[in-house]
Amino acid sequence: MMLPKKRSFKSRLVLSYFLVVLLSFGLVAFFLDKKLEENSLHDLKASLVNQAALINSQISFKSTEKENRDYLWQLVKDLSQRISGRLTIIDTKGKVLADSEKSRFETEEMENHAMRPEMKAALAGRTGESIRYSATLKIDMLYVALPVKDNSSVAGAIRLALPMESVKRNLLAIRQAVFLGFLFALGLAFVFGSMLASGIIKPINKIIHASHRFSDGDFSRKIFYSSEDEIGELAKNLNKMAEDIENKVKEVNIQSQQLRAVFNSMIEGVIVLDNKARVVSVNHTVEAIFGVTKKETEGKLFLEGIRNNDIADEIKKVLEDAASVSKELALTWPVQKIFQVNISPIIDKGAIGGCLVVIHDITEIRRLETMRRDFVANVSHELKTPLTSIKGFIETLLGGALEDKDNSRHFLEIIQEHADRLNDLINDLLELSHIESREIRLDKEKTVLFDLVETVISGFGSQLNKKGIKVENSISRELIVWADKDKLGQVITNLLMNAVKFNKDSGFIKIYSEIIQDNQIKIVVEDSGLGIPAKDIPRIFERFYRVDKARSRQLGGTGLGLSIVKHIIELHSGAVGVESTEGLGSKFWFTLPV
Ligand code: ADP
Repeated sequence: MMLPKKRSFKSRLVLSYFLVVLLSFGLVAFFLDKKLEENSLHDLKASLVNQAALINSQISFKSTEKENRDYLWQLVKDLSQRISGRLTIIDTKGKVLADSEKSRFETEEMENHAMRPEMKAALAGRTGESIRYSATLKIDMLYVALPVKDNSSVAGAIRLALPMESVKRNLLAIRQAVFLGFLFALGLAFVFGSMLASGIIKPINKIIHASHRFSDGDFSRKIFYSSEDEIGELAKNLNKMAEDIENKVKEVNIQSQQLRAVFNSMIEGVIVLDNKARVVSVNHTVEAIFGVTKKETEGKLFLEGIRNNDIADEIKKVLEDAASVSKELALTWPVQKIFQVNISPIIDKGAIGGCLVVIHDITEIRRLETMRRDFVANVSHELKTPLTSIKGFIETLLGGALEDKDNSRHFLEIIQEHADRLNDLINDLLELSHIESREIRLDKEKTVLFDLVETVISGFGSQLNKKGIKVENSISRELIVWADKDKLGQVITNLLMNAVKFNKDSGFIKIYSEIIQDNQIKIVVEDSGLGIPAKDIPRIFERFYRVDKARSRQLGGTGLGLSIVKHIIELHSGAVGVESTEGLGSKFWFTLPV
């Protein structure tokens, strides 16, 4: 992993070493150089003055006189070689008497030196000195001049000159040494600086790497740094922090897993939305209700993902007013259902952060409610009809008809008929409620189906004869089912009764069995009756549902027979159904496991 700040820190550290060395060494070098230059010049001047004084003592006043010029010249030549400098002698007027750099004759030609600053001072009786460019030698020279005394008066001046070159050479050598030392110090600063910086940076880098690991959620490796210094303290604190975070993360993970489990196992559909009505998450129930997937919805606007305008309108209201809404909404697509939708705002730091939509499927509750209502209405109605008749005939009888012997008997027979009907109805209702209450216990036994059907048929003898209906029992005699004989008998009775009631005169009834897959048998009761209109078929097994109410009642039906059949078969883990063509007949069937 690249650590962009690392290098700059190290270079900054090394640079600061550099700067410290540069500054301190530079200052030292600057003052040293200045002082050295001053000192060496001072030393040089002093030695020149001394040498000049020595030479001065060798030159007597006499030697400056004209006749002694040769001797003087020779002396000057000699001495200048010994001191390896230039030696010049002038008289009080400034005329050059001898010069080590000029021949005997050239000397005569030389310009007057009285105005040279050092000479001027010497002729005035002082020690003169000057650094200047020599027109004669074309280089910078250091001049020192002393007066030549005759007794106590000045008789001329002696001047010693050394090229500045040598001074400069000396200084240069010193400067070179200082510069080399300086370079060496810089090198040392670099090496030690780098070493020190690395020493500091290494553990810091370790900590940076570790902090990257920590921020990526990897707390498996801690920082190993045992020193008791500040960095050690930092490492210790970071390790502690990482440990705390790790524990917190674990805790949060467990909590979020639990929450997710709850969220996904809820029977209610739950949608979490942000304040822009964007779907944050949906649970499995929402996926099932709206036929969408998490991927299709999460991150999208509610209307893009779920496309339900009614709920979207309510969400908008909640996000605007921050007040919960509870509403019953009917969904027609993708499924026809009724939902109780509760939408609550999510308040985050005083502002609406989003909302929570909880969708409760109440289709079944509503269906059961409707069923119960219908059932009560139906039962009341069914009971009321015969009761009204009974009451009416009793009133008629009491109102005088009792005296009329012929009619009163007839009326009593009608009353009896209606009372029977009431009895049948109440029996069927009791039977049905008994079967529907889950308390019922089936008394299952090996039942030979053929025999059971034969017994039931024999009970219908007179009715069959009356209508001239032929019954054919083609069930295999070997067919044995594991069933509650009485209940199964009731099923066959009800089906056979309908097949007789709704059959035409001289019709037929066929009862047969078919083996269908999965170890199931299908028993069919086929008749040649009126058949059932296609539109009524889906509802035929409902309680009190009758194609022709009047006719059914007239035939003594309660509208509960098929309902009882359905429940008994379902208790045996079977299914019921009907195929029918209006006017041609019906095939009622049920299945049973073998
Ligand atoms: P019911 O007591 O009226 O016979 P059921 O529940 O047994 O009540 O039947 C409900 C309705 O189904 C009947 O009223 C009738 O309209 C119709 N039905 C039942 N069996 C047959 C059949 N074999 N042929 C024609 N219609 C039938």
